[in-house]
Amino acid sequence: MITLYVLGSGSRGNCCAVESEGMALLIDAGFSAREVERRAEAAGLDLGQVAGIVLTHEHGDHACGAPRLARRLQVPVLTAPGTWRHLATTMLDAEHRPLGLCSRVELGPFTIEACATSHDAAEPLAVVVRGSEGASVGVAYDLGRPTTAVRYLLRNLTAIVLEANHDEVQLRTSEYPPVVQRRIAGSGGHLSNRAAAELLVELHHPGLRAVVLAHLSQQCNTAAEARAAVAPALRRAGFRGALHVADQDRPLQPILIVQRAGLQLGLAL
Ligand SMILES: [Zn+2]
Ligand SMILES: [Zn+2]
Repeated sequence: MITLYVLGSGSRGNCCAVESEGMALLIDAGFSAREVERRAEAAGLDLGQVAGIVLTHEHGDHACGAPRLARRLQVPVLTAPGTWRHLATTMLDAEHRPLGLCSRVELGPFTIEACATSHDAAEPLAVVVRGSEGASVGVAYDLGRPTTAVRYLLRNLTAIVLEANHDEVQLRTSEYPPVVQRRIAGSGGHLSNRAAAELLVELHHPGLRAVVLAHLSQQCNTAAEARAAVAPALRRAGFRGALHVADQDRPLQPILIVQRAGLQLGLAL
């Protein structure tokens, strides 16, 4: 069993955590250390259990709290070598454990796998964390487009945290200058609601029990729109699990991810 904590997600900060067997991993730390501590406490996550901080990439909304948290918690930072090179001068004396293609890192009860994503960062990753009893959680955001590698990494998971960044019409009619619109919609940018729905339908399988839509744009999306774009498509595909939408400003209720002898559940506590 894994408990998934979504402490917040959006362009002003991203931080999730998975907890199992008394150990936890942070996945991104895109809020200040103090804010991560505040949100963890609000969500009931004991940061004393954290055994490592996984960073998907170096952008501030994913990594700004990592140096201080790594030092305070005395835990390693797991990230791609290119991301680490970018962050190394800020990382004080933190230990680095490389994550990358075809590598599998074991930490406590967790096995962590990663693949490259299409995004305008040094060496951005999508990550999957598996618990010792088979439950699994994938986290993929800041995706310009869903590459074959991302589709392969995210297959057969119990829970998926996936970007649903913008409504395409809202983006086109937004006040963003055309060059910014092109960057957001381009292959180094962010996944739209429609693209997220298509990818989730493709990834759906009977064991998928929880989906969290994440990294919603404040200007070009709402939770209701993201849900409306994804929920009917997932339902038609046969999804009977729980669909959540991450919030920028507050943690979600912890999400229990259970896989037991062929029975997989993803319940909101
Ligand atoms: Zn980014
Ligand atoms: Zn981001």
